Amino acid sequence: MPTRITIIGSGPGGYVAAIRAAQLGAQVTVVEDAEVGGTCLNWGCIPTKTLIASTDALEQARSAADFGIELSGEITYNLQKIRERKDKVVGTQIKGIRALFKSWGVEIVPGRGSLISKDVVRSVRKDGTSQDLISDRIIIATGSRPAALPGIPFDGSTILSSNDAVLLNKVPASILIIGAGVIGCEFAFLYRSLGADVTVVEAMDRALSTEDEDISLLIEKELRKAKIRLITGVRVERVQKEQNGVLAALTNAKEVRAEAVLVSIGRALNTEQLGLEDAGLAAGKRGELPVNERMETAVPGIYAVGDVTGTMMLAHVASRQGIVAADNALGADAWMDYTVVPAGIFTRPEIGSVGLREHQAREKGIQIKTGKFPYRALGKAHAMGEIVGIVKVIADAATDRVLGVHICGAHSADLVHEGALAIKMGATSKQLGAMIHAHPTFAEGLMEAAEAVLGNAIHLPRGDK
Ligand SMILES: Cc1cc2nc3c(=O)[nH]c(=O)nc-3n(C[C@H](O)[C@H](O)[C@H](O)COP(=O)(O)OP(=O)(O)OC[C@H]3O[C@@H](n4cnc5c(N)ncnc54)[C@H](O)[C@@H]3O)c2cc1C
Repeated sequence: MPTRITIIGSGPGGYVAAIRAAQLGAQVTVVEDAEVGGTCLNWGCIPTKTLIASTDALEQARSAADFGIELSGEITYNLQKIRERKDKVVGTQIKGIRALFKSWGVEIVPGRGSLISKDVVRSVRKDGTSQDLISDRIIIATGSRPAALPGIPFDGSTILSSNDAVLLNKVPASILIIGAGVIGCEFAFLYRSLGADVTVVEAMDRALSTEDEDISLLIEKELRKAKIRLITGVRVERVQKEQNGVLAALTNAKEVRAEAVLVSIGRALNTEQLGLEDAGLAAGKRGELPVNERMETAVPGIYAVGDVTGTMMLAHVASRQGIVAADNALGADAWMDYTVVPAGIFTRPEIGSVGLREHQAREKGIQIKTGKFPYRALGKAHAMGEIVGIVKVIADAATDRVLGVHICGAHSADLVHEGALAIKMGATSKQLGAMIHAHPTFAEGLMEAAEAVLGNAIHLPRGDK
C-alpha cells in the first residue's frame, strides 16, 4: 500500500510538497481551508506583481514622449480593469495547480485541518462536518497571515492589511504605510503610481534594512524622487480612527493624517488551533514550528515547511522545503541549504539580491572586497530608458570567491540568478568578470561589477570601484 501523506495547506510549500510526494508514489491528500495556492498566489507574490505590472505600464505610458511616442488624451487608469486583470492572472494559476493535482492524483479535502494525534489529521468544513485522515506522514504548511498592530484590528477600509491592499477596492487620496520592508516598499510605489499621497514610517534607520546598504540608499533616493515621504528611525505609537481616515502619532512627537493606513509590520505564523499539543508538538516563541534542515519537526513522521517554520518567508524557499520534506517523508535523505537564496523585491526599480550583504560581512568579521557598477554606464540601460541602477558584487578578500550579488535596477530579480549560480559553483569575481556577456544587455553590468572588484572594469574611470 502506498504511503499516505496528508498535507495541511496548499501554498507554495504545501502544493509543491504534494506534487513531489505524488511523483514519488505516495497517496496524497491536501487539506485546504481557502483556495489552492495560499498567500503567494491569492494574496502575495502573484497578485502584487500583476498589479505592479499595471502600474509599470502606466509609468511607461507617462514617459512615452521620452521615446518619441505621442499619445493623445489624458493618460489614466481603470481600477476595475486592473483588478479584473489581476483576478484573471490569479484564476489561471489556480486552475494550473488544480490541473496538476488532478494529473498527479492529489486529493483536495476542503476544510480547516488540525492534528488530533501524531498520525491523524481532522479536517472540519465550514458547515461543521468533518473527516479524519489517517496518515503515515504529515506535512504542515499552514503559512502565515498579516500581523496587526496591537489593539488596532484591520477593518478593510481605513486600517488595511496587505490582503486588503491587494483587493485594491479604492485608491485613497493619502495613505500611511507602517513598515518600509519588502511589502511596504512595493505598495508605496504602487499606490504612488496610482496617485495616492504616500508616507512610509519605518522603525529601523533605513528602508529595506535587511538588504545591502547600497541598495537601501538607492531605493530611498527613488522613494523620495517619486515624492513618497519616508520617515526612518521612528515608530508609529498610536493610530486613531477619525471621521475621514486615521491620525497616527509617531515616536518623534509628530503626527501623520491619512485617509487609510496599511500595516505592513510583518506576518503572524499560523500555528494556533492546529492541535500541535495533541501530536506532541509545541510552537516556538514567535509562533513558529521548529524544524531541522530535513524539515522534520520534533515528532517523527511530522514535517513542516514554509512560512510556518519561521525561516525565510519566501515562496521559493517554501517550495524547496516542500520538496525536501516530501523526499524525506518517502525515504530519501534531503536537506535544506540556505546559503544561496536569491530574492526579488518589486519596487521601482526592482531589486535582486543573493548571498552576503556588506553589513553581514562586517558583523561576521569576514574580510571582503567589493565592486560596483552603475546602470547608467550601460548602453542597454540608455537604450531602454532604465539608467537608474547599481550592480554590486561582494567577494572574499582572500580567495576572491563571490559571496554576494546585489542589484537594484531593471530586470534585476532575473539577473541576480547569474550571481546565485556563481556563488553556488564557488566562482571567483575574476571568473565572473572574464566570462563573455552579450552586448548590449543589463547582464554586462554584472560582468563589469565583477571586474570592478579587481579594479578592472572597462567602462569605469580610473579609481572608481
Ligand atoms: C503582499 C505579499 C507579497 C509577497 N511577495 C512575494 C514575492 O514576490 N516573492 C516571494 O518569494 N514571496 C513573496 N511573498 C511571501 C510568500 O507569499 C510566502 O512566503 C509564501 O506564500 C509562503 O508559502 P507557504 O506555503 O508557507 O504558506 P502560504 O502561502 O501562506 O499558504 C498556507 C496555506 O495554508 C492554508 N491554511 C492555513 N491554516 C490551515 C488549516 N488549519 N487548515 C487548512 N488550511 C490551512 C491557508 O489557507 C493557505 O492557503 C509575499 C507575501 C505577501 C503577503
